[in-house]
Amino acid sequence: MGNYLGALRQWVHMQDEHECFYTIVDQHAILGEGDPADLPARTLDMAISVLAVGVDPERCTLFVQSDVPEHIELAWLFNTVAPVGDLERMTQYKDKSQRYDSIPVGLLNYPVLQAADILVYRADAVPVGEDQRQHLELTRDIARKWNARYGEYFPEPGAIIPEAGRIKGLDGEAKMSKSLGNTVGILADVEGVWERVRTAVTDPQRVRRDDPGRPEVCNVFTLHKLITDTDLIPDIEEQCRAGTRGCVDCKRIFADSLVRECAPFRERAEYLRAHTSEVRDILEAGADRARAVTRETLAEARSRMGISWRSAL
Ligand code: SF4
Repeated sequence: MGNYLGALRQWVHMQDEHECFYTIVDQHAILGEGDPADLPARTLDMAISVLAVGVDPERCTLFVQSDVPEHIELAWLFNTVAPVGDLERMTQYKDKSQRYDSIPVGLLNYPVLQAADILVYRADAVPVGEDQRQHLELTRDIARKWNARYGEYFPEPGAIIPEAGRIKGLDGEAKMSKSLGNTVGILADVEGVWERVRTAVTDPQRVRRDDPGRPEVCNVFTLHKLITDTDLIPDIEEQCRAGTRGCVDCKRIFADSLVRECAPFRERAEYLRAHTSEVRDILEAGADRARAVTRETLAEARSRMGISWRSAL
């Protein structure tokens, strides 16, 4: 749900407003602790989720990162201008590097690959959450440094801020994230959704069912505003303040709203799981479209950097 509310829902809207390239970043995923044997299925599963929520391959370009090798090549070219000091200052690097005895160099320079993921399309803008803003700033710096040395070519992309802001998990504290176990799977069935939603933390001042509540401090209310029919919101707020509706009933309304919004997604996901060759065709066609752009960018970048020995013949 965090991924859907924080990113995918906006991806769907953006398709009609921009020329969009969406990629499933399997080459970033290998930085984690995951089992390589699971990665193909996780990649396919992500593609199915993205398609199920309404990302439409007719209106955007959807592909898997590793099918477009120019991302990696451009990352190497950018490595020649990206300052180590800036990479070491990245908050995510400082946090994540604590977990390692021996820090892999990929943890330091994956933001350079992110810069390449964006700039290989010479993108003007990129949708980023709050936690990625620093990496986007680095992307802009890399573009500036490269342009200063090799001539104006890469734009400095701006941020498209998520409509929903930061989505807190069911614990009401940390960002909603699978790794923290505080999320709800939007493709889960009715019982699966309720099992998770019923555990959501609410206003801690409501101990008894008829205690007056404070919707402004309750994360369930924030989630209601993102999913539940807007006509119902005033009633949810009033009944909470008056203590006339218990939190369990309130969460029920939320779970029902979520199930209703996601029912078409579940149907599409089921269809795609039964027709994976269609997903393969979509991703392969997307990679072809992406490569038509990335080949051009790389040809220009290589030539400006002197990686064009034939020009000396
Ligand atoms: Fe939160 Fe709803 Fe309980 Fe109010 S009634 S505290 S909004 S869950």
